[in-house]
Order: sequence, then structure tokens, then C-alpha cells
Amino acid sequence: MGITRKRMLTLMGATAAGSVAASVTSPAAARAVTGLAAGIPDAHVLRRDVCVIGGGSAGTYVAVRLGDLGRSAVVVEAKDRLGGHTETYHDPATGGTVDIGVVVVEDDPLVHRHFGRFGLELTALGGFGGDPAFVDFRTGRPVAYTPPAPTALPTYADLISRYGPIDTVIDLPDPVPHELAAPFADFVQKYDLGSVVPLVFNYGQGVGDLLGLPALYAINLFGQGVLRNIMARSFLTTAAHDNSLLYERATAHLGDDVLLESHVLRVDRSGRGVRVLVATPEGLRLVVARKLVVTCPPLLRNFAGFDLDATERSVFGQFVSGAYYTGVARLSGLPEGLSIENVAADTPYNLPPLPGLYGLNPTGIPGLYNVKYGSPKPLPEAQVRRDIRAGIERLARAGTYPVRFEELEVFAGHAPFELHVSPEAIAGGFYRRLNALQGHNNTYYSSAAFHSHNSSRIWAGAETLLPSIAA
Ligand SMILES: Cc1cc2nc3c(=O)[nH]c(=O)nc-3n(C[C@H](O)[C@H](O)[C@H](O)COP(=O)(O)OP(=O)(O)OC[C@H]3O[C@@H](n4cnc5c(N)ncnc54)[C@H](O)[C@@H]3O)c2cc1C
Repeated sequence: MGITRKRMLTLMGATAAGSVAASVTSPAAARAVTGLAAGIPDAHVLRRDVCVIGGGSAGTYVAVRLGDLGRSAVVVEAKDRLGGHTETYHDPATGGTVDIGVVVVEDDPLVHRHFGRFGLELTALGGFGGDPAFVDFRTGRPVAYTPPAPTALPTYADLISRYGPIDTVIDLPDPVPHELAAPFADFVQKYDLGSVVPLVFNYGQGVGDLLGLPALYAINLFGQGVLRNIMARSFLTTAAHDNSLLYERATAHLGDDVLLESHVLRVDRSGRGVRVLVATPEGLRLVVARKLVVTCPPLLRNFAGFDLDATERSVFGQFVSGAYYTGVARLSGLPEGLSIENVAADTPYNLPPLPGLYGLNPTGIPGLYNVKYGSPKPLPEAQVRRDIRAGIERLARAGTYPVRFEELEVFAGHAPFELHVSPEAIAGGFYRRLNALQGHNNTYYSSAAFHSHNSSRIWAGAETLLPSIAA
């Protein structure tokens, strides 16, 4: 999330606290693939209790925990590493590290257990910058802005507590209360919550149009778990400032049960179990398992080759996504330790219009700044890179800081991000239908779309499913 401990304390003030898969969707291609599967030598057939698709936060956790429960699992991951949105930049010059994806985790026994089992120490979330400067990146000019003390936080906490832990499992009352499907702006206005909006916006970076989206998504992201840790000022990060270590050690722990750079070609759940044909760098593998756990974003394009039924297709077909981008920029000319937050002089709650930069944060490595950029919908990455550079260069052109953009040392697009559905779908019981798919066709689901964009909540949510998956 996009907030340093220092910044959070400031805001708190004195208050209380597929490409291959896509090619086998036609019936003829599917028959051909089924034929291929039939000819797979036994040495290339992996028999496991569970096949997990996607090896990010949810998939890695599920696979590791299934092992604890005496079940075998294999993870099929598209990229060449586990970790998903957890990503760490290693600066070749200094050896320093920058977590450019997932930074903070909650102070929760489950979180301590998960890191602890891999020998990773957690420490209080720190920051490398001082109080931020506020700049409108559309003009590059400073904005006279003082973030409000979030005095409405206790009211907000009280209001969302009536919905229970919907940051862990999106289990909504039936019928769905109107205020959850209505825009978050209405929720804020109705309960006079304006003072918490900048905090929710900053913590909830990546959510897109925070005020326009249904309030459910703000409450899901800025939920009970986050509130507990904000109130107690207890967010944690790895002492090594390298959250990817969790996934490197999990990869070693899982050993041959991880198929990297691998793509599902075909899923057949017609029998008593599941058969998953996977293209790996070593050739085709057939996973024969009792159950399937899908942890990649549940967008239809990630189900190419699956034998989806009409219900699954109609539910997953409703998701649309936003996008979140991150990177490390090498800049010169900025005062040391300066962090800059994008605020707009002329918008409700001074929220910057998106697509746009959230801001720049020093990394503790001289000259390197973490940049974060959000968009309500995915954009071409070249466009985002250009826009990041242009925004930074406007600071110099406006005479605000004599900054020089040297280069983007690393850039990562995190799209799709924050899957959401229409207000009508929410009101019509979309999440009831989504949750009803758990176990349907021997398939379970665990990922941000089912819990929230919060690794600690994802792991807590996965725990609620593990007894059924392992049964
Ligand atoms: C920049 C950034 C900062 C964040 N900061 C925080 C933070 O500080 N704290 C926090 O708790 N959360 C943070 N988050 C939220 C983060 O999304 C969640 O914590 C969590 O990582 C989501 O887990 P997931 O398993 O749903 O998705 P992911 O971790 O993205 O895992 C999905 C995996 O599935 C793989 N995949 C996708 N499609 C396929 C396919 N078709 N076949 C096989 N594999 C596939 C992907 O490559 C990926 O590895 C941040 C996110 C971003 C982008």
C-alpha cells in the first residue's frame, strides 16, 4: 500500500489512533489437447491432492499450508518466480533493496507464523522521508494543503464494524444494503467522513476512482484489519526490507511442486477430480488432482482452456479491473529525503485525478525514489512510463524543484488490479453468487478478488477455506 509509517502518523495527527492458453479455446483445439493429454508419459503426470493456479500471495500460502495439513499440492505460476504483487528491487550499486510491491503486513499471529516458519524477522514499518511536500503533478506547482486529522476514524470504524470482516471474506448481508452499492462519496457525505478520505485514498492506492466506486470497495480495502493496525500503529515489514524473501524461501520449501513459467492449456473437471494440462518450459505436464484452487485474478481471460459452466462464466464475466503501477526512478536535484504527494487544488478532498502519479518516496538509497501510479483501468505501460517522467519533469519546469529525471531503474505494471463489478451487480447479490462457487466443480478460489488487496487478510481468508480444500 502507498503509505509510510511516518506519513500515517502524520495523517493520524493527534486523533486516536495466457497467450498459449488462449489458443486452445476452440472445440477442435480442445479435442486435440485432450488427445495430447492422453499420450502424456506417466513420468510427466503429476498426481497431487490439489492443483493451485497462480503463485502469488494466496497461491503460495495455500500450497504451503496444504503441506502442513498433510496434503500434496502443485503450483502452476505464469511468471518465473513466486510472489505476484510482492516484488523487490535490488540496487546493484549499493546492494540496498526496495520493496516496490507489497510492503506492509498486519501484526497478526497468522502473519508472524507465516514469516516465522521461513526464518524471517518482522519489524515496525519505517520510512525514509520526512513530512511530504504537496504538489499538483498536473502543473508541477506546490499546493497549500494540510492533510486533515482523521477525526472521523472512530465513526468510520463503528460504521464498518456492522458489516463484519468483509476484508477477509466478502460475505454481505442479504439483501445487500443500498449504501454498500452506492458510491463511496455518498457514504462519506451521509456520515460526515470527509476527514478520513485522504487516509483511505493513500492507504488504498491502486483502487482507482475511490469516491465513484461502490462504498463496498473502500470498506473492503480499508477494512477492520487495516483499521486495527492503523489505530495500534502496528503495521510490520520484513527486517531485511525484502519481502520477496518470503517467496524465495517458499519456492525452496515447495521444491518440485512449483511449475514456473507455466501455463494452463486445459482443465477438465468432469470426473471425480480435476485434470490440468500445463505447458511448462520442460514440456507438457498433466496434473491429476482431487481439487483445484484458482488464485490468479478470476477474469475470463485467465480461464481460457477451462471447462467453465454457464454459472461460472456469467459470474466471472462481470469483473472489470483497475491498474496500479510502481517503479524506482533515479532522480537528481531533489532535497535529500523529500517525499512528494500528489494533491489537487480543485477537487473534492484534494484527491488527484487518475490516471496519475500518487507521489514519490525516497527509498533510503541516494537518488532512488519509489514512484506509484494509479489508473481506473489498465493503460499501455509505455504511456504510464511517459506520464511518470512528464509529471516529474513538470516539477522542474514549474520551478518547484530543480529535479532531473535520469531513468526508471525498474518499472512494474500491476494490472489487473482491484477487480470490481457494477453497483447493480453488487445489489443483485453478485458476491453471494461468487462465494457460492467455492467447492463448485471441485474448485476453490482464494485471491484479492475474494478477500481484499491485503496479504494478511488473504491469508486469513484462505484459512477459512483450507478445511474444505484439504477434506
Ligand atoms: C504496488 C503494490 C503495492 C501493494 N502493497 C501492499 C502492501 O503493502 N500490503 C498488502 O497487504 N498488500 C499490498 N498490495 C496488495 C496485494 O495485491 C496483495 O497483498 C496480494 O499480493 C494479492 O495476492 P493475490 O494472490 O491475490 O495476487 P498476486 O500476488 O498478484 O498473485 C497472483 C499470481 O497469479 C499469477 N497468474 C496470473 N495469471 C495467471 C495464469 N493465467 N496462470 C498462472 N498464473 C497466473 C501471477 O503471475 C501472480 O503470481 C499491493 C499491491 C501492489 C500492486
